[in-house]
Amino acid sequence: MDTPLDPFTGGALRSEQDCGVLVERGVIAARGPYAQVRASNPGAEVLDLRDGIVMPGLVDTHVHFPQVRVIGGLGMPLLDWLDQCALPEEVRMGAVAYARGVARDFVTGLVDAGTTTALVFGSHFAPAVDAMFEAADVWGLRVATGLVTSDRVLPAPLLTTPERAYRESRELAARWHGKGRLRYAVTPRFSLSASEAILESCAQTLAETPGALFTSHVNENLKEVEEVAALFGGASYVDTYDRHGLVTRATVLAHDLHPTDAELATLAAREASVAHCPTSNSALGSGLFPLRRHVEAGVRVAMGSDVGAGTGFSMLKEGLQAYFMQRLLGDDGLPLTSAHLLWLCTAAGAHALGLAADVGDLSVGKQFDAIWLLPEPGDPLAVGLGNAKSPEDALSKVFALGTTSDVGGVWVGGDQIAAGRWRRPPLA
Ligand SMILES: [Zn+2]
Repeated sequence: MDTPLDPFTGGALRSEQDCGVLVERGVIAARGPYAQVRASNPGAEVLDLRDGIVMPGLVDTHVHFPQVRVIGGLGMPLLDWLDQCALPEEVRMGAVAYARGVARDFVTGLVDAGTTTALVFGSHFAPAVDAMFEAADVWGLRVATGLVTSDRVLPAPLLTTPERAYRESRELAARWHGKGRLRYAVTPRFSLSASEAILESCAQTLAETPGALFTSHVNENLKEVEEVAALFGGASYVDTYDRHGLVTRATVLAHDLHPTDAELATLAAREASVAHCPTSNSALGSGLFPLRRHVEAGVRVAMGSDVGAGTGFSMLKEGLQAYFMQRLLGDDGLPLTSAHLLWLCTAAGAHALGLAADVGDLSVGKQFDAIWLLPEPGDPLAVGLGNAKSPEDALSKVFALGTTSDVGGVWVGGDQIAAGRWRRPPLA
């Protein structure tokens, strides 16, 4: 199952019950009825995946590596959660040995969830960002990350200067940007903790690092939006980035729950993307995502788990929560089908990160980034799939019932990097 064409503009789920996929040097070289692909390639090793569902690797466009150990801090709005939960843990990243352990926990979480591509919010400490790049490189994940920069509001150990931020960012990019499947992402924490000078240093790093991404937060919480406007002379949140040239095709801004129409128009005009993070938004009570307004304004939307305010790494859970949110919005909501959810959790993320030529679906010419969902026999998901009325219905059951434990195999660029928790895939 995959979604090569956007269901928001007329695309639909593509599903095959008899499919051979020929993978050569990590790339899908052919696909078609199994007997035909087999006959053309009699020497190829065969992996029989008929017991489960093969889907594109999941794409998480907003996830914080330093926060894996604080997932589940419920009961607080954003600014209290940052003070009490996230920021104390982010300060601990200053000890590189601790950061290495967290990076290991984090990458394990991504892989177990079937996330093969991620735009990762890094750490305020350069050695911790090195640890994150190293961990992603070991697993071969497609990861973009970078130094998180701030020069006000946050606890002192998390602050830097524009000059130091620029120097450390350029050094990290020189070490990691373009190595294997890794890319650099210029990452001010949010305008609330960024002076004009540090945003300008971000612009300089971005200009000098071709192919780098830009990511930050926007319009998450009404109190935060008010404080940002006060700090920037009444500017809109999007404009605080845009006036430094930081809103471009390479930009992914997380949340955007409370945008003005003018901000949506700017995001659309710049071809920037928004990372929708529904479990985080729900857990913090930040708001209900105005997906319809984004789609109607022509703003590209993808999905993020926003670990650790989000409640885990499962993009299936994010898809389901996105669906819930649109239902709860009533007439303002955008009804979502299972094909929309798969698109949002795979191809939409690939488009947002500029990787649509390589990943996001299982078409010929794409990298074989894939997951194999294989619920244990008797599990409610296995029962549901056995009784599904159509492929679309089966996919609805995947989003309603699927968990990270159902991921029975994970491939990136044709390399199998995980085999699932309860069974190894059989070689036929
Ligand atoms: Zn975030």
